[in-house]
Amino acid sequence: MEKHYYPTIGLEIHAELKTNSKMFCGCKNDPNEKNPNVNICPVCMAHPGTIPVPNKSAMEQVVRVGLAIGGTIANFTEFDRKNYFYPDIPKGYQISQYKYPIVSGGSLAGMTVTRIHLEEDTATSKHDRGDFSLVDFNRAGVPLMELVTDAHTFDSVDEAAKTGAQFGKEYQLLLQYLGASEANMEKGEFRVEANISLSPDREKLATKVEVKNLNSFRSAERAIRYELDRMLELYEVGRESEIVQETRGWDDVKQSTFSQRAKESAQEYRYFPDPDITKFMLSEMFDADALKKALPELPAAKRARYKSEYGIKDEDIETYINDHDLALWFEDVAGILKDAEKIKTASNYITSDFVGIKKSDPEATLPSEGNFSELVMLVVDGKISSRAAKDILAMIVKEDSSPNALAEKHGLLQKNDEGALKEIAQKIIDANEQVVASYKGGKENALMSLVGQMMKETKGSANPALATKILKEILS
Ligand SMILES: [Zn+2]
Repeated sequence: MEKHYYPTIGLEIHAELKTNSKMFCGCKNDPNEKNPNVNICPVCMAHPGTIPVPNKSAMEQVVRVGLAIGGTIANFTEFDRKNYFYPDIPKGYQISQYKYPIVSGGSLAGMTVTRIHLEEDTATSKHDRGDFSLVDFNRAGVPLMELVTDAHTFDSVDEAAKTGAQFGKEYQLLLQYLGASEANMEKGEFRVEANISLSPDREKLATKVEVKNLNSFRSAERAIRYELDRMLELYEVGRESEIVQETRGWDDVKQSTFSQRAKESAQEYRYFPDPDITKFMLSEMFDADALKKALPELPAAKRARYKSEYGIKDEDIETYINDHDLALWFEDVAGILKDAEKIKTASNYITSDFVGIKKSDPEATLPSEGNFSELVMLVVDGKISSRAAKDILAMIVKEDSSPNALAEKHGLLQKNDEGALKEIAQKIIDANEQVVASYKGGKENALMSLVGQMMKETKGSANPALATKILKEILS
């Protein structure tokens, strides 16, 4: 029997908070500032004698995130100095939190959260100017929230990779819903690191490797998978001693991880409470109950509501979960249509047809809720075919106008005049003796050929359901 191995992963996710000013000074927190060293002051440049003052709204955001994942908000909290030397860290230490994080516990997307704490971001180094480096301090001191999950052991590589990526995605969505962070991965506002290990013993953790540079959730999933497969191969050939504690990067081009640096013994940061910063009693600073009540509807609650209220497919719900404006617009449409079947039809046209049009034409805009609802009613009432509905939708995303008027103008209204359709049906039956004979002989499919001819005769304007009914009646 093949030996079984158990993957364990833990995630560390850094997110830059969306605040007006930086974490410990009044400088503007602007991730889009292109000019270097514009948003700086003596505090974030670590001039001697300056005193950092914590940003209360950044602390409040962390409390809100903690409440949203069902975590425990600390009563007491303090900031610590994490000492290390690097050009992008002007003080020679980073202000972070060690013993008393703002949030402990909580859970999201099937993983348990260990803690969420607040710290300051570093400056950015640019190494593209030849034999020297430049440092831009605009980002130095921007509020940075770090979430750490518990290490989770899974039964399969697939489960580990999927759960890890899913957690990241759900957390990003949560921060966006809360307005706590833009959490744009490409801009570095949301940075995922995964601690990965593989063990033959479910109860015993093996050497872990830290993987960085995960710039998308797809990369995160692939990197976890790649790294676990690499470890598995080493086990299988008896070379597991080559799995060493190290930091590995993910190469998106080669689709593989590579060794960045071996971890010597865990770095000694000599954490100690920052004597320049006051301690905080969070329970006195914030009214957690009031903050919790004021939280917006979060993704999980919205999914449940869409399911019970509209009964639409899970994948359609995800489209709305990921597109706030589209969701609001859809809710307005649903409010106009009211009926469950009509709402489902509307949702199909939105999530498949409108989203499809939008993909190929970014200029396409949502039509007014009223005109879109009118289009749905034309389909539901059988006044236009689904083909015509798609054509009209393509028109109203370019220029918002009445679908009824467009259907008339372009001759897309289906003929529902029974008398006229009966005449045409009779004509077609007379001209197709053989087809009629085979239908009467039991070939149900032969009827479709007659319906097809009716559609052709009416240039597609006949209502196919009505045409079928009439043909059946005449031939019965
Ligand atoms: Zn500053």
